[in-house]
Amino acid sequence: MYKKPKKRLGQNFLIDKNVLQKICNACNIVSSDIVVEIGPGRGELTSLLVQIPKKIYAIEKDLDLIQGLKDRFAENNNLEIINQDILKVELKDIYQTHKKKIKLIGNIPYNISSPIIEYLINNRDFIDNAFFTVQKEFAQRLTASSGSKLYGSLSCFAQYYSNPKIIFGISRNCFRPVPKVDSSFIRIDIKNELPLDKTSEKKFFEITRASFNQRRKTLRNSLSKFISQDILDDFFKISGLDINTRPEKMLIKDFLTLTKLVISKRYQKK
Ligand code: SAH
Repeated sequence: MYKKPKKRLGQNFLIDKNVLQKICNACNIVSSDIVVEIGPGRGELTSLLVQIPKKIYAIEKDLDLIQGLKDRFAENNNLEIINQDILKVELKDIYQTHKKKIKLIGNIPYNISSPIIEYLINNRDFIDNAFFTVQKEFAQRLTASSGSKLYGSLSCFAQYYSNPKIIFGISRNCFRPVPKVDSSFIRIDIKNELPLDKTSEKKFFEITRASFNQRRKTLRNSLSKFISQDILDDFFKISGLDINTRPEKMLIKDFLTLTKLVISKRYQKK
């Protein structure tokens, strides 16, 4: 009945009933919720999620899975199955239809985890929170704090805009086909207030990316090409950090201080 799972679409279906129920419970769905599920696949998680909310949109890119989903959920009037690439779905339209922020849920295709995080952040005005199953290492990178080996520009990007948290781990054996790595179930809450304006945000991400580009270099070396020595000197004085600090020792707060310094000096008259 089913076609062979497609690797290129990240098709690893979650088959463990206990884990599926645990995920559904952790999403805390209430009857007034508007849910968007990314990649329903054969509908295992969907069949649990669909029970509660006012409306659920299931966005599946693989046309070969659509008929199966339509047949399985023919009776569920609150579910809309859409054959589309999630990255092309306008969440704004869904938000405006219901005048309510969305809960984004999914066992997401591993090959597009990063683009989905970017999509989530770009659409943050229309999203309340997100619940994703991702590769364990990806979850660790999202949630890593300063000092960790996996702390990097992705951690800074995600944690600037949101609070990502690992809720529980999921063994690779709960999926078919069995992937090469374990997974984590994560929750991402969008922050309501951000410390920087749009121009400064751009600078902040330029700085974090450049800092982590060569992790083994000191911050000073990595940044000296595009931040002047006097700003860097001021930064080390103000932050109290050693001048040989490496990027992974920088808290997000420190990157914010540095960004503000760069921005303020730019507008100063010489
Ligand atoms: N939720 C199901 C399937 C997870 S596998 C389960 O837990 O068993 C990932 C699913 O995402 C697959 O069904 C795959 O076809 C779908 N998918 C892959 N890329 C997608 C994209 N860009 N947009 C929407 N769905 C996508």
